[in-house]
Amino acid sequence: MAGVSAPAAAPAGVAVIAVGSELLTLGRADTNSPHIVAAMQRHGLAVRFTTVVGDDLADLTDAVRHALARADLVVCTGGLGPTDDDRTRDVAAAVLGLPMQEDAGVLAGIRERFGRRGLTMPDINRRQAQVPAGAAVVPNERGTAPGLWIPAGDRAMLLLPGPPREMVPMLEDALSTHVTPRWGGGLIRQRALVVAGRSESWVDERAQPIYAPWRDEPLPIATTILASLGTVELHLSCHGGDAGALTHRLDAAAAALAAALGDDVVNDDGRSLERTVGELLAARGWRVALAESCTGGLVTTRLTDVAGSSAWVDRAVVSYSNAAKVDALGVPDALLATHGAVSEPVATAMAEGVRARAGVDVAVAITGIAGPGGGSEEKPVGLVCFAVTGGRGTVVRTSRFTGDRHVVRSLAATTALDLLRRYVRASDAR
Ligand code: AMP
Ligand code: MG
Repeated sequence: MAGVSAPAAAPAGVAVIAVGSELLTLGRADTNSPHIVAAMQRHGLAVRFTTVVGDDLADLTDAVRHALARADLVVCTGGLGPTDDDRTRDVAAAVLGLPMQEDAGVLAGIRERFGRRGLTMPDINRRQAQVPAGAAVVPNERGTAPGLWIPAGDRAMLLLPGPPREMVPMLEDALSTHVTPRWGGGLIRQRALVVAGRSESWVDERAQPIYAPWRDEPLPIATTILASLGTVELHLSCHGGDAGALTHRLDAAAAALAAALGDDVVNDDGRSLERTVGELLAARGWRVALAESCTGGLVTTRLTDVAGSSAWVDRAVVSYSNAAKVDALGVPDALLATHGAVSEPVATAMAEGVRARAGVDVAVAITGIAGPGGGSEEKPVGLVCFAVTGGRGTVVRTSRFTGDRHVVRSLAATTALDLLRRYVRASDAR
């Protein structure tokens, strides 16, 4: 294992090519590439890019050439079958300039596979016994197409068949037999800081001056920023030391970012917002009730997606109509008439109503206009009012989201969860 002070050799760069015209239709998704990316990561190898290419000779040749020019290891899946449209083996050998030979052992294995089922091997399957010079066969226990490990100078190609049930065990075999003895051993540790209630650019503006110097330090940290609806994630990845050094380095990095971003940081270990909220509630023995209008139960769905949520979720009322707000939550008719359903007073009455009925520690209400219809000049589409109520009173908030119905509802759900998180956390400070 590399010592703490050893120079941080960059881990090998990997490119993945998924081969098959069916992967470019709606019918079949490329599930092999994400699997390979995850497996490489576990072994400390960084995937630089993935490509999906059809069974076209010229396209496949270009893809392999490009990948070999940019990566140390090129992993292909698919196109190792016996038919004419299975070209990965031929293309790899041609691009690497390696002659092919029939491998007697592989041929005998394929013959035996057919024999066991009482069949004679069709002649076309002979193609699967073609092995480029210098290549090693990766045995396939579950199908006829053998995999190939093809070293070529300081680079290598790994060819695996397309069916996932064959590819997955063969990948593990090839990783331990061929890949990690050559490139592995370097550890990669990763950390994700989750931020809510701020835009990607806001987060980047504050985080960038902190993380920019990390790239050039002895244990360099690479960062990526990822925005989704309502949350921003800062992903940190560090390599070049032993497990203890990497963890220590990432702890310090996460702490520096958390100090700069303050209360907007949901957690520094990549947990979802809803899980974090659930754990905050559980730690205090608190239970929550919800009154949802425009989100139609989305907040409750997300909270109850978390295993164990029965410990902290009491109930939810989806009070879509005015009548429901009156009947199920006790919102006064007069309040609706005076302020309208989308208003802070109504959000407050909804939250206080559901909290009183449930007898819980904290309650959240959401009422808004998801669109595309129902907006007005005074109350446009995207206007959403929130209320969180509990032992330290009621906190209200009005937001104006832009986007289609799905976006407005998702942003509203995330904002509600984040307001609940902030309310629970701020309750400790009293
Ligand atoms: P092949 O090895 O190209 O003959 O692929 C055989 C079958 O494996 C295809 O028909 C697909 O069902 C499946 N397959 C191939 N490539 C992939 C991939 N990248 N992800 C998931 N399934 C795949
Ligand atoms: Mg195919």
